Amino acid sequence: MTPLLNVDSALANILANMKTLPAETVSLSESHNRVIAEDIVSPIDLPPFDNSAMDGYAICSEDSVDADHANPVALSVAMDILAGSAPNRRLEPGQAARIMTGAPVPAGATAVIPVEDTDDDWQKGDSSPLPAEVRLYRQLAPGENIRRAGENIAAGATVMTAGAVIGPAEIGMLAGIGCPRVDVIRRPKVAILSSGDELVDIYDDLAPGKIRDTNGYTLAALIRQSGGIPIRLPIAKDTMESIRALYRRALETKPDMLISTAGVSVGAADLVKAVMNELGDIDFWRINMRPGKPLAYGTIQGLPFFGLPGNPVSTMVTFEVLVKPALAKIAGRPYKQQTVKAITAGPLKSDGRRSYNRVILSQENGRIMAQTTGIQSSGALMSMVKADGLAIIPEGVTLAPAGSELDVILLRSPDC
Ligand code: AMP
Ligand code: MG
Repeated sequence: MTPLLNVDSALANILANMKTLPAETVSLSESHNRVIAEDIVSPIDLPPFDNSAMDGYAICSEDSVDADHANPVALSVAMDILAGSAPNRRLEPGQAARIMTGAPVPAGATAVIPVEDTDDDWQKGDSSPLPAEVRLYRQLAPGENIRRAGENIAAGATVMTAGAVIGPAEIGMLAGIGCPRVDVIRRPKVAILSSGDELVDIYDDLAPGKIRDTNGYTLAALIRQSGGIPIRLPIAKDTMESIRALYRRALETKPDMLISTAGVSVGAADLVKAVMNELGDIDFWRINMRPGKPLAYGTIQGLPFFGLPGNPVSTMVTFEVLVKPALAKIAGRPYKQQTVKAITAGPLKSDGRRSYNRVILSQENGRIMAQTTGIQSSGALMSMVKADGLAIIPEGVTLAPAGSELDVILLRSPDC
C-alpha cells in the first residue's frame, strides 16, 4: 500500500497545480466580495474640490485673530453656499460666506468657523434668512474645517491593487471615482459529486439502512464561503456505471474543479478511485492526517479533482486544510490559514497522524483555552457544529496532555 503522504507536501503539490482563473467584467454592485483583477488608479481628486467640513461660515482666517466671546469680530455676510452649488465670486477680507457641510469653499476663504462658534443661532435644517453680519467668537487656524481637494485620494493614486477583495468601503471608493464596471476574477465553478447506496436527499424518506446526504450541502456551503459557485449533482449509486455517468454529467457542467465525497477508501464499494483512474489521473491518495486519511487528488481532463473521504467531519476537515487554499488560488483570493495558540483544557489524543481535534475556545486569565467538543468520531458532524477551531496535534504525537500549547485553526470568531 502507498505510504501516507505528509499534509504539507500534499498541499504544496496541490497548490503547484492551481491556476488562477481569467477575469470577467461585472457591474459595480455585483462586484461586492469579488477579487479585483486590475490595479485601479483614481482619474480624479477626491474630494474634487476644497469643501467645508462643517455647517458655518467660510472666512479669511486672519480676520479671526484674537476673536473671543468678550471681543467678537464682526464680518459682513457676502454669500450663501449650499452643498451642490458652485460659488462664482472670491471671498474678500472682512467678508464671510455662510456655508454648509460639503459645499465648495470659495476662493479667498482659508477656514470655516462652525456656526456654534458664532452669534448666528440658526437651527440645523432651518431656512433662516441670510444675516447681514456674523460675529466670530474664536480665532481659527488657516485650513481649519476645510477638506482639501485630493485629501481622500489624489488623481493618479492607487485605490486598489489587483488581487484585493472588494468590500463595502472599496465599492464606495470605486463609486466615488466613477467606476461603473470592474474587472474581477471569475468565480470558480465547483462540481460536487456524492455517491453511496445508503444516501438519500433531504426530501426523501429514511428507509431502513439509509442516511441523508449531508456532504453535498456542507460542501456547497463551504464552496460558497470560499467565493466559488457550487454545482450539486444527483447522488450516484455504488456501481462503476453510476459513478462514471455522474462524472460525465459533472464534466458537462464545465466546472473549474470537481470534488467528490466517499467511495475513496478501501471498502468493497469504494469505486471512485477506479473511475478516476479510468477518466483521469490520480496524483496521490492517502494522507497522514486524522480525520481524512483516504483522500485522492488528481486531474480529470486537466481539471483538478479532489476525492474527499465520505465521513462528514473528514469531508469538512480535508476541505479546510487542502481544498480551501486550492480554491482560493484558483479564485485569485488572498489566503492565509487563521490560527491561534491555545492551551488544552484536558488531554487530547491522536494516533500519531497529524490530528485536527475539534475544540471550543475560551479566554482564561489572558490565555486562550481549548476544550474538546466531546466525541471526535469522524462521523459526528455535531463536533463541527460546536467547534470554534481545529487543534492540531503534530504527527508522531499520540497524546497532548492538559496544559499543552497547540496551534488551533480558527473556523469562526470565538466568543472569547
Ligand atoms: P465511504 O467512504 O463511502 O466508505 O463513506 C464513509 C462514511 O461516510 C460512511 O459512513 C458513509 O455513509 C458516509 N457518507 C458517505 N457519503 C456521505 C454523504 N454524502 N453525506 C453523509 N455521509 C456520507
Ligand atoms: Mg460508500
